[in-house]
Amino acid sequence: MKDRTWIELSKKAIAENLKSFRSLLSPKTLIAAIIKSNAYGHGLLETAELSRKGGADLFGVNSLEEALILRAKYPDFPILIMGEIPDLLERRKEVSDPNFWIIVSRTESVQILSECKPSPKIHLKVDTGMARLGYSGKDLERTLTEIRDLGLPLHGIATHFASTEDVLEQKYSKEQMKNFSEAIQLAESLGFKDLVKHSCASASTMLFPEAHYDLVRVGISLYGLWPSLQTRLSLHLSGKKDFQLSPVMSWKARIVHLKTVPEDSFVGYGSTYQTSAETKVAVVPVGYYEGLDRKLSNNGVMLVRGKRAKILGRICMNMTMLDVTHIHDVQIGDVVTILGKDKEEEIGADDHANWTYTINYEVTTRISESVPKIIQE
Ligand SMILES: *Cc1c(COP(=O)(O)O)cnc(C)c1O
Repeated sequence: MKDRTWIELSKKAIAENLKSFRSLLSPKTLIAAIIKSNAYGHGLLETAELSRKGGADLFGVNSLEEALILRAKYPDFPILIMGEIPDLLERRKEVSDPNFWIIVSRTESVQILSECKPSPKIHLKVDTGMARLGYSGKDLERTLTEIRDLGLPLHGIATHFASTEDVLEQKYSKEQMKNFSEAIQLAESLGFKDLVKHSCASASTMLFPEAHYDLVRVGISLYGLWPSLQTRLSLHLSGKKDFQLSPVMSWKARIVHLKTVPEDSFVGYGSTYQTSAETKVAVVPVGYYEGLDRKLSNNGVMLVRGKRAKILGRICMNMTMLDVTHIHDVQIGDVVTILGKDKEEEIGADDHANWTYTINYEVTTRISESVPKIIQE
């Protein structure tokens, strides 16, 4: 292993996570593997290949740029593009792909896409309570009527839940489901038939079978992470106790320097840590550039030889210091586990999230694209 730091991806874990989701769905429901934002830090192309092999039916991304990277490798695999595409008019050539499923919010976008040759599949976004993309109420009615009056085609209709992950009772999501089903009725009453309907991300797929419709969009849980503790509890309480997820990513590095410093030594920028005894310090070549949150300064652990080692002082741009005094026979070149398992110990993205007051989504997504990925068969 020549890399200073790297990510190992478990092919088996992705396949198992997809299988877990498949077990919740009716056979007709498609699964879009959401691999936007460098697959939440897991590597776009690596994760695409693993999720396709693991049985995903579509890739889901945010931007046209991501879709084009995937398209170069997969000439006709369906790709769902979920974010707005700026300057759509100038990008007609690039979006002219019959296996792009593009979610749009406005009549003008439907018109542009429908004139492409070949035309991508057009999905209309409905705002049911997120106040992000799509319209609701009168604006939605006007949009659907315009699309009908212009004789434009729609292939699908979609919405997104705002707060499924944050709560144990799902009043707000139930309201959104009702709004979505009203939007579907409106579209059907205007003559739009056989629409591909979709609303669920990971948490809602687990908790709302009635909202699965034709397609679910699974992101965070594809990577073996729970959308939230509340989601995990809710699923457990609903009786689905067998549903399991396996983390896909292990993030590792190697010790590049090792030394013993005396009692009362300061460690790192700002001298924010002072040793209270003679201390063996290991230097790990990972810092905030690589995506390790600086809030882990004096506030986190990594694993060395199956033992927990505390982070000493501030996280630097490309390095971090660890206390390895208590770990027997540490050597330069030893593997350090930043995320993942080492013998009996494990550190998860949820641990980093708790230590830094954020969510697991942000922890993995912030890992730099520059960290190489190794696929474990
Ligand atoms: C990112 C995203 C998802 C996936 O959400 P997870 O909670 O990661 O499963 C689904 N739908 C839309 C519109 C998204 O932007």
